[in-house]
Amino acid sequence: MSTDTIWSPSSWASKPALQSVEYPDRKNLDSVLAKITTLPPLVTPAEIERLRYQLGAVQRNEAFLLHAGDCAESFDACTQQDISAKIGLILSFSLILIWGARLPVVRIGRIAGQYAKPRSSQTEKIGDKQVLSFRGDNVNGLDPNDRTPDPERLLRAYFHSSATLNYVRGLLTSGFASLHHPRDWSLSHVRSRSLRRKYEQITEGLADALDFSHTIGVDSGRESVPFERGGGRGVLGEVDFYTSHEGLMLGYEQAMTREFPLVGGDANATGSEKPKTGFYNTSAHFLWIGDRTRQLNGAHVEYFRGIRNPIGIKVGPSLGNEELIELLHIVNPEKEPGRVTLITRYGAGKIRDHLPSHIQAVRDSGHPVAWVCDPMHGSTLTSASGLKTRNFGTIISELTSCISIHSDCQSRLGGVSVEFTGELNDEGFSVTECLGGSMELSEDQLELRYQSFCDPRLNFEQSLDLAFLISNYFKE
Ligand code: PEP
Ligand code: MN
Repeated sequence: MSTDTIWSPSSWASKPALQSVEYPDRKNLDSVLAKITTLPPLVTPAEIERLRYQLGAVQRNEAFLLHAGDCAESFDACTQQDISAKIGLILSFSLILIWGARLPVVRIGRIAGQYAKPRSSQTEKIGDKQVLSFRGDNVNGLDPNDRTPDPERLLRAYFHSSATLNYVRGLLTSGFASLHHPRDWSLSHVRSRSLRRKYEQITEGLADALDFSHTIGVDSGRESVPFERGGGRGVLGEVDFYTSHEGLMLGYEQAMTREFPLVGGDANATGSEKPKTGFYNTSAHFLWIGDRTRQLNGAHVEYFRGIRNPIGIKVGPSLGNEELIELLHIVNPEKEPGRVTLITRYGAGKIRDHLPSHIQAVRDSGHPVAWVCDPMHGSTLTSASGLKTRNFGTIISELTSCISIHSDCQSRLGGVSVEFTGELNDEGFSVTECLGGSMELSEDQLELRYQSFCDPRLNFEQSLDLAFLISNYFKE
């Protein structure tokens, strides 16, 4: 098994890697990766450790995880408008959850690096031509004439991630995220009056609560988080926010992996065998292993087992109980809290066949995990006109089954992982990629504003519908 060998940031290279990309010029790839190795980290070990700590709180049911964003980012969508729409939606969604569930929310965006996509087939047919599949902006172009993998795109991905993150950090530290002004996250474009009203009730209630605490002098400016570590941040005007992407392109991930002294409690461990340094993937706070690349002896699992970052593992219907436990032993042999988040994505029709036994097996193994529901990836369908879509009702069905199965099994859902977008077109209309929701989007409306070049995303209104649903559940 993988754990017999010594780990290094490059030890994955001797294992079989599914979804690997064939570059026409290996030398060019090597020189791009050598350049990336010299570029500064995008995130810091202290931030990564803070997220690990907060995910420990999620595992203890003291916080709820919101993992959300696009299926895939594109270089073209690295704009002020798109980034602020994404952050605004994540903040609005989390506000609804905090208000309803009265639990702190850990926010992780699929942002600032979510460029690569796993594909089920190496090639695809476009018109009458068979071309290489589009693998994401950091590999090749969406244009069918630009499908040859180009390593320079990895460098462009680094700089687009860095520009995105720079703007996100700016937004979050200059009042945009302040809970004192949640109305600024603009709902003016939401056409459903009842949805707008429901949201306004929360923001008005929140404003009153803040005024009240200000009046009686308890306005410390802090979110009531039981997961402070290192202190200093997490204040009202400066919410915590973390980045993530699927760790698919291992050459890039390796180039962004750096050895640092361990920060926090582990750094001070004395008289133990524990190393005083750790390898941090500094391209994102959180990385996940996709459902297609989680083979026990594969390159991805090998890479993931050695990094300090908290990691996600996508858990689909083809993962057996024993294999799941073996995977947990490999990536978290010391059973450390906060390290592993299991993101289940079985499909609404299959969840009952798999989740109860996965919960039981994990409990028996003694591994601490956060259970997160991705109600989207197991339930994708094709519309009559050939568009890839998802049904809001089916998404809700998997999510509600997930919540009730956890409760039947004396477990608890710790979070959700969703693909959504706050993107609007020039006239202020949301995208039309998923069916249903309070706006009752029908099949013949899909083509109106279908903008995803990857998986279909919930639009702004559908996302708020989902947030209210989860929040109501936790209120009860
Ligand atoms: C994704 O999250 O975009 C994805 C491809 O998921 P999965 O690996 O679960 O299919
Ligand atoms: Mn997706």
